[in-house]
Amino acid sequence: MTTATTPAAAVMEQWWAQAQETRRRVWGNVPDEKWNDWRWQLSHRLNTVDELAEVIELTDEEREGLSAPEKFRVDITPYFATLMDPKDPRCPVRRQVIPLGRELRAFTSMMEDSLAEDAHSPVPGLVHRYPDRVLMLVTTQCASYCRYCTRSRIVGDPSANFSRQEHQMQLDYIRRTPQIRDVLLSGGDPLALTPKILDQLLAELRAIPHVEIVRIGSRVPVFLPQRIDDEFCATMRKYHPLWINIHVNHPKEITPELRTACARMADAGIPLGNQSVLLAGINDSVHIQRMLVHELVKMRVRPYYLYQCDLVEGAGHFRTTVSKGIEIIEGLRGHTSGYAVPTYVVDAPGGGGKIPVMPNYVLSMAPGKVVLRNYEGFITTYTEPLDYDPLEVKHLEKQIPRRPEPGQEGVSYLLEGRQLAIRPAGFDAVHARGGEMHRLRADASKWQPFLVGETVDAQAQGPNGPAIAAPADGDR
Ligand code: SF4
Repeated sequence: MTTATTPAAAVMEQWWAQAQETRRRVWGNVPDEKWNDWRWQLSHRLNTVDELAEVIELTDEEREGLSAPEKFRVDITPYFATLMDPKDPRCPVRRQVIPLGRELRAFTSMMEDSLAEDAHSPVPGLVHRYPDRVLMLVTTQCASYCRYCTRSRIVGDPSANFSRQEHQMQLDYIRRTPQIRDVLLSGGDPLALTPKILDQLLAELRAIPHVEIVRIGSRVPVFLPQRIDDEFCATMRKYHPLWINIHVNHPKEITPELRTACARMADAGIPLGNQSVLLAGINDSVHIQRMLVHELVKMRVRPYYLYQCDLVEGAGHFRTTVSKGIEIIEGLRGHTSGYAVPTYVVDAPGGGGKIPVMPNYVLSMAPGKVVLRNYEGFITTYTEPLDYDPLEVKHLEKQIPRRPEPGQEGVSYLLEGRQLAIRPAGFDAVHARGGEMHRLRADASKWQPFLVGETVDAQAQGPNGPAIAAPADGDR
């Protein structure tokens, strides 16, 4: 008899009943004490055709994928395996962890390291892409393996794992780079490290004065919620402010065990977010995404990012169009709490970092007027002040220390008036057309725009302020 109070709860109850049935059928002789022990779960992961055939009715294509010699690693915790529909190969849980034959098919623009992470790593496993934060890859191991993994080039491979010496190189880089205020631990999965090593790494990071926050990205709460025990929470409490992002793609992954794990982390004072990947045939639906974000916020998990699937080897069949992502945000924004709407991002192929993408809500502009539309198609006009003075705040701004972003000031620098243009590499040489220096080219001052590239203070005083001061950083 159902105890569900909503249609969504009834669906989740059915999924859970099916999982319980699979557990009884396959692991009926395993007592709760063992089942709830994360070490037992890790040491009983499934990875062969024979083991998986006991849990689900494998299709020919799944058998082909599982038998491929060059495949990305397969390992599935018994707990997560119970969430797979034994009969339906389109099950969203099953699709994420069981390889298909088509997984090995090449596609246009496919890359081994599509985000150029290794090219942006000053030391092995330490990706420094943004001005003030780094991604610290601490292990190549995970509790289970996702077929679309962005880091399949190293993830799952024990021989590619990061050594203690490389951890020290990563920490040394952070120590000698004071602009880093935020460190994101990832991998692989940081929670797949032994508790002792994770504790040591966090202690060493916390001892660096300029590291303000530490974040962990982990799918362990989803694959292995048993790992989120009292000992784990006690360790995390020592290192606040510490944030954790989990990784749930479909509401079927939200179980009583995951809810308990999230409650424990939230009660330990850890702000929780979720990162999903938009996956064809799994969660590329407004209605699935709505149910997902609603279930997440009920667990005190803020939907943070929805990623466009990367151009990575093995992920070709999971990719959707970008327009599908925009359609999903269109179906979330305004239709549910703003708090439940993730930022949809394309992680730039080639290594440019995350680029937010969304429907266009600004329809038109004129001086003093912005025409906007809402989610219902209601079109309105925002009247802008014509006497707004953006320089009034400058005296307050002077009290705030500026954070240097050497070489990465970007478009914001143009808006501040510190720079006129951003030129692609080689721009000036191309446009010189190989010509000689001549009398019309000799004086570079003719291209120095008035009051651009000066200090903000000089600008604040306007064109009648002090004579041209030393350029802040110049027009680079
Ligand atoms: S948990 Fe993360 S790192 Fe591990 S296989 Fe899945 S996506 Fe890759």
